[in-house]
Amino acid sequence: MMELTLLGTGCPKVDYKRFGPANLISTKMTNIIVDCGSGITQRLDQINISSAEIDALFLTHLHSDHVVDLYQLIISSWHSYRTKPWKVYGPKGTKKFVSKIMNAWQEERIQRINYENRSSTKAFNIIVKEFSASGIINIKDLKIKYFEVDHKPVPFAYGFCFLKDNKKLTISGDTRPCENIMKFGQLSDVLLHEVFIEDEIKETNKMRTSKTLHNVKDYHTPSSIVGKIANITRCKKLVLTHLVPTKFNEKKLKKIVKKDFGKNPIIGKDLLKIKI
Ligand SMILES: [Zn+2]
Ligand SMILES: [Zn+2]
Repeated sequence: MMELTLLGTGCPKVDYKRFGPANLISTKMTNIIVDCGSGITQRLDQINISSAEIDALFLTHLHSDHVVDLYQLIISSWHSYRTKPWKVYGPKGTKKFVSKIMNAWQEERIQRINYENRSSTKAFNIIVKEFSASGIINIKDLKIKYFEVDHKPVPFAYGFCFLKDNKKLTISGDTRPCENIMKFGQLSDVLLHEVFIEDEIKETNKMRTSKTLHNVKDYHTPSSIVGKIANITRCKKLVLTHLVPTKFNEKKLKKIVKKDFGKNPIIGKDLLKIKI
C-alpha cells in the first residue's frame, strides 16, 4: 500500500491554509517527497515525519514555488539528526541549482558546523541525479516512472507515476493539457492533477493585466479541461491540487469537473491523506 499526503496544495500566492506545492508518498518502509514548496518542513512536522527519514526528493521543475524551501529542508534535516546523504532527482539544471543554493549558505553553514559540533555532516552531502526524457527509478519498494510534461517556457518539467503492488499514483506536476499525462496516467488509481480555476480571478491592475492572467492560465490546465483529461486516463480518483487561485467556489469547481470526469473530483487540502 502507498499513502499520498498533500503537504501543500497552493501556488506562489501566500495562503496559510494552502502552503507551497509539496507531496509525500510513503509506504511502511519508504518516504519520498515530491517538490519542496514554502512550508514543507512545518507540514512534515504536523504529521510527525522527520526530514531525517526522507529517502529521496523528486522535483517536478525548478519554478520557485516548488523548490523555495530546499535549503530549509536540508538544514532542518541536519537539526533533526539526519546521518545520511540526500538524494535529489530533478530536471536538467538541478545540479547547478542545488550547488548555487548550497553555496549561498556555505559560510554560515561552515560556521554552524564548527560551532555546533554535531557528529555527522552527511545531511549536507547531496547526490543529484538529473532526468532524461523519461525513465524509471527504484527507491526501496517503490518504482517511479518520470515523464516530460508541457510547462513551456519552463524548459524541463516532469510528471511522475508511483507504482507498487499493481497500484498506481500519477502526479501531473505543473503542465498545460498534454498527451503524456493521458498516456502515462492511464488507469491510475489516483491522478493528482494541477488546475487553474477559471472565472475566479477577475480584476486586473498594472501588476496583473489581462495578458498576465492569460499567460498564467496558458501554461496550466484549466478547470474546463482537467475533467476531460481525467476521463481519458480512466483514473479511479481525481485529486486536484496546485489550486490557482487558492480561494474559490468549491461547489462550482466540483460541478464543472464532474460534468467531464463523470465522478466528483477530490478537491485537495493541505494534510489530506489518501490511501492507494
Ligand atoms: Zn507551480
Ligand atoms: Zn510551474
